Amino acid sequence: MIIERLPYIYRLVRYFYDHKYGYCNICGRQTIFLNISPWGKRNSYYCLYCKSISRERHIAKIVIDSYFKTKSLKDAVKSNNRIRIYSAAVNDAFYKILFYNYKDFYCSFYLDRNYKQNPPRMLFQDIQKLTYPDNFFDIVITQDVLEHVKNYKQAFFEIKRVLKKGGVHIFSIPFHFFNKTKHYYEEREQFDNKHIEGKVFHGKYLVYTEFGNDLLPYLENLGYVTKIHVSDNKMKKYGIFESYVFESKKI
Ligand SMILES: [Zn+2]
Repeated sequence: MIIERLPYIYRLVRYFYDHKYGYCNICGRQTIFLNISPWGKRNSYYCLYCKSISRERHIAKIVIDSYFKTKSLKDAVKSNNRIRIYSAAVNDAFYKILFYNYKDFYCSFYLDRNYKQNPPRMLFQDIQKLTYPDNFFDIVITQDVLEHVKNYKQAFFEIKRVLKKGGVHIFSIPFHFFNKTKHYYEEREQFDNKHIEGKVFHGKYLVYTEFGNDLLPYLENLGYVTKIHVSDNKMKKYGIFESYVFESKKI
C-alpha cells in the first residue's frame, strides 16, 4: 500500500545524504544502505539487494566471524563447516541466503492459529514449545522476537534445551540498559490479551516484555554466559549502525 510506504519514501528523499555506500556481509555485494526506517538506525539501513537491516548484518558478523571466517554469509554457504543453525524467522535476509543453499539451516514462522506442517527445515513453531530435539543446534538466532512472546522465560528455556552444550543463542531485543524488565503478561492466566496491562506495540505486534538489565543475571542463572556486542565505527562499512546484539553461550 502506497500509504504505508509514505514514511519510507519521505525518508528516502529527506535523508538522502544519510544513505551509505558499503559492503553487505550477508549477500556479499557492494551496495547502498538506505536509511529509510522510522524505527531507529538499528532497524534501518536496508541493503539495496538483500534488504537486510543493520542489526541483521550485526548478527551475521558474529556468526561468520565466530564460525565460518568468511567475508559474507553468502560465502559461508560454501564452507565445509557444518554448523546447524536455527533462525526463528522466514523471508528475512538469512532465509534468502541460507534456506536453499545451506542444508544445515532451519527456520520457522509463527501463526496464532493451527497450522498443517510442511517441509522439515521450515516449520510452524511456537518458540515456547519447540518441536526440535534436545541438544540439536549450534546456533539459534532470534531477531526482535522475544519481546513479542507471551512467556519469554519459557522461550529462553526452550532455546536452551535445543542448543548443544557450547552452542549460542544470538539475539536482538529492544533493551533498556538502565531499567528493570517489565512484563505485561500475567502467567497464571490463560493466553488472553485482555490481561495485558500496558499494550505497547511495535508496528502491529503487541509487546509483552520490555527487557531490562535484570535479564543478564536471569540468563546466568539459566546456565548461559552472555556477551553484549555493541557496534562500533569500524562496522559502519558493513552498514551496521547503533546496534547491540546478545550472544548467550550454553555452558
Ligand atoms: Zn545485502
